[in-house]
Amino acid sequence: MVAQHRRLHHAVMEEIVQDSTARPSGGYTDTIVVQGDRALQVKRCTLRRIHMPLRTPTRTSYGVHTSRDVIIVELETVHGAIGVSECVAMREPTYTEETVFTAWHILQDFLVGRLRDKVFETPADLRDFSDGLLAVRGNAMARASLEMAVWDAFAAETQTPIHLLLGGQEREIPVGISLGMESSIGRLQERALQAAEDGYRRIKVKVSPGEDLLPLRAIRSLLPDMPLMADANSAYRTADEAVWAELDELSLMMIEQPLAHDDLVDHAALQRRLRTPLCLDESIRSADDVRRAAVLGACRIINLKPGRVGGFEQSRRAHDFAVHYGLGLWCGGMYETGIGRLHNIALCSLPGFDMPTDVGPSERYFVEDVVNPPVTFSRPGHLRVEELHGVASRVNWTLLDRYTIDSETIHFRH
Ligand SMILES: [Mg+2]
Repeated sequence: MVAQHRRLHHAVMEEIVQDSTARPSGGYTDTIVVQGDRALQVKRCTLRRIHMPLRTPTRTSYGVHTSRDVIIVELETVHGAIGVSECVAMREPTYTEETVFTAWHILQDFLVGRLRDKVFETPADLRDFSDGLLAVRGNAMARASLEMAVWDAFAAETQTPIHLLLGGQEREIPVGISLGMESSIGRLQERALQAAEDGYRRIKVKVSPGEDLLPLRAIRSLLPDMPLMADANSAYRTADEAVWAELDELSLMMIEQPLAHDDLVDHAALQRRLRTPLCLDESIRSADDVRRAAVLGACRIINLKPGRVGGFEQSRRAHDFAVHYGLGLWCGGMYETGIGRLHNIALCSLPGFDMPTDVGPSERYFVEDVVNPPVTFSRPGHLRVEELHGVASRVNWTLLDRYTIDSETIHFRH
């Protein structure tokens, strides 16, 4: 199949039309065109549920997790190219309302069928497809996983780097680390020192009422020059008066999502009182939410996660809004496997991503990643946007098969 696909690739490349009349809109690569029977059509879609052991257990409000369950979407085109993507929904509905099981249901019963009879000739068709998925309300993670698999398949089919399809460029991205709540301040300081030694460009600390000033000051005193930020995951209320003034004294890079997960208005009121920039994460569910947040003054920085806003096209628009309104921008992580990780890195190729990402090397999360080679620093504290013609070429299929605990294939064409 690989040889067949290579032959086909050469044929496709010969037919790629450099359309001089195409007007790239907002930096998109609109000159990649595959026409006629060379156009991308999906032959089959396979949904897999995989079970990946985590390197270190993570503590959540639901207890301690030692593994991550993930849906992998795999598409095969009629020409044999493979597109792959990852759904970032978690096991429990604690970050957004979606879970692995709701995402599976939405994909299987409402989304995957939309690939039937679809013909993709240009990136504009990918964008139309992305917009069509908006007919399914909410469920952004399920939508994103299918949408990103189609972009990935298009990159493989046309042998175009994903970041070029998105309108980005090869670059190095600075990487920050996110530290969870540790058993003691001493342990947290150890982790922070190690992160500095490993080259991380900023440190983020998870905070909650009563567990905020002490850990932040402990890191600040140890590493005075290290950019430092706090992520509150919606743990505070506006009325937590005393803490805001003290947090504002710490010269933090930003305070991430202090108030309710679905709020913009209260954040705007809080931002007016603080010198420290607020960053919105959970509140940003769509590209338009970036515009709304900017207009309201709800934050000065956006943590963008492609899974949470519905995929590459919606992320692209969110990026453009952030640039337009002068907001800082970075890409967050959702404990992705290498598949989602490489997609996040491709997205960071866009010029508006001007702050360190949370997307780190594979080894921080997994014993063994499903991509080979795994994602590693290009130099300490940096990841390089790679020339990747779709992520499937990097997947370790043997390992992916081993981790797969459930799968379902939908055939469209033979
Ligand atoms: Mg966050």
